[in-house]
Amino acid sequence: MIIKENSKTHIVGAGIGGMTAAINLSKFGKSVIIYEKNDSIGASRDGDLEGIENWILSKNLPESIAECGIDFNGIPKFPIFEFFVHLNGIKPVKIKSQEPFFYIVKRGTSSDSFDNYLAEICNSLNVKFLFNQNHDISTADINATGAYRAAAYIRGAQIVTDLPNQVHLLLGKEFAPRGYAYLIINDGFGTMATAFKKSARGNDPLSPCIQYFRTLGFDFKVKSTYANRGSFNLPNLWDIKNPIKIGEAGGYQDYLFGFGMRIAMYSGLSAAYKLSGKNFQSKIINRELNIKRRISFANRLLFENLSINNAQYWVARFEKSKEPLNILRAAYDWNWKKIIKSIKLTNQYAIRFS
Ligand SMILES: Cc1cc2nc3c(=O)[nH]c(=O)nc-3n(C[C@H](O)[C@H](O)[C@H](O)COP(=O)(O)OP(=O)(O)OC[C@H]3O[C@@H](n4cnc5c(N)ncnc54)[C@H](O)[C@@H]3O)c2cc1C
Repeated sequence: MIIKENSKTHIVGAGIGGMTAAINLSKFGKSVIIYEKNDSIGASRDGDLEGIENWILSKNLPESIAECGIDFNGIPKFPIFEFFVHLNGIKPVKIKSQEPFFYIVKRGTSSDSFDNYLAEICNSLNVKFLFNQNHDISTADINATGAYRAAAYIRGAQIVTDLPNQVHLLLGKEFAPRGYAYLIINDGFGTMATAFKKSARGNDPLSPCIQYFRTLGFDFKVKSTYANRGSFNLPNLWDIKNPIKIGEAGGYQDYLFGFGMRIAMYSGLSAAYKLSGKNFQSKIINRELNIKRRISFANRLLFENLSINNAQYWVARFEKSKEPLNILRAAYDWNWKKIIKSIKLTNQYAIRFS
């Protein structure tokens, strides 16, 4: 149980959202305690490579990270300007952009992880971390405990390889039933993962992914494997009970491809504004996040219902486009048709408005 020190702000969960909230609360003059159930920062992750996307929010990536009070240039990261899409065994298609699609960061406990980078900023601002604290959330100010109800499952492998840096997206039900798989390689280290809905047979689609890349002639060694999950639960807008829920705990997630990090950070910033009496700024951010997550939900429904021909059409559009990032950005624009479609399809979908 949390013993409340009234002058302090209490956050449960030292993940991306919780630490962003703490950084901003400290900058607004609050003193902050974060309770973390694990014994260190990043311990809930597996050292995997993840991408911070550059298309969902209206501000571009460097600008929005700066708005979250974080020095973008200092983040250990590398930009991705191109990736390959593999669809139905046809020749992989290269998709190239002028601006980075996303920046890859490492998650986990290592000193070069994004988690550690945020923790260092927290430490410089005197945020207090209390570890091994599995807390009663109801007495906190912010609930930042991450995924709580599994709706998507992730199986991954860390690999070592001599292959050059590259990123691949793999689509198809044998690799990721109603989902997607990916391979990211950076400096001899790589993450191969599949994010999928639980299939009826309960199969693990990671093995076909590994096999597929081996068949293409990719030479790599699997160092370790991991399993994780994602929450995809859109909360009711009238759910305003305390504590404030941020990140995945509050359903702040990209429902299309699970790009939850920037959204988690923004929801942390919004909570910091709210707890510092800056309600107007908090509302503006929440409005954007609520629109974007609902659009991403509609996009997910459309993605899961794509026919093979439609999927090929979209891949070809991305390939031919001079700036495919603009297609992605347009896909996250407000669009009534999409919202209505998402409402109609909600019942067919495994996630709920909770
Ligand atoms: C394998 C995987 C790959 C992903 N890839 C990407 C990607 O490429 N790009 C992207 O943008 N997003 C990706 N995501 C999603 C993204 O990582 C999350 O959306 C984001 O980390 C959510 O941030 P958060 O602060 O809500 O939760 P987290 O960062 O998960 O942090 C939650 C923290 O709360 C702690 N906690 C939980 N319960 C308690 C409790 N009761 N008491 C105290 N502490 C508690 C946990 O230990 C953890 O430290 C991926 C997710 C997974 C699982």
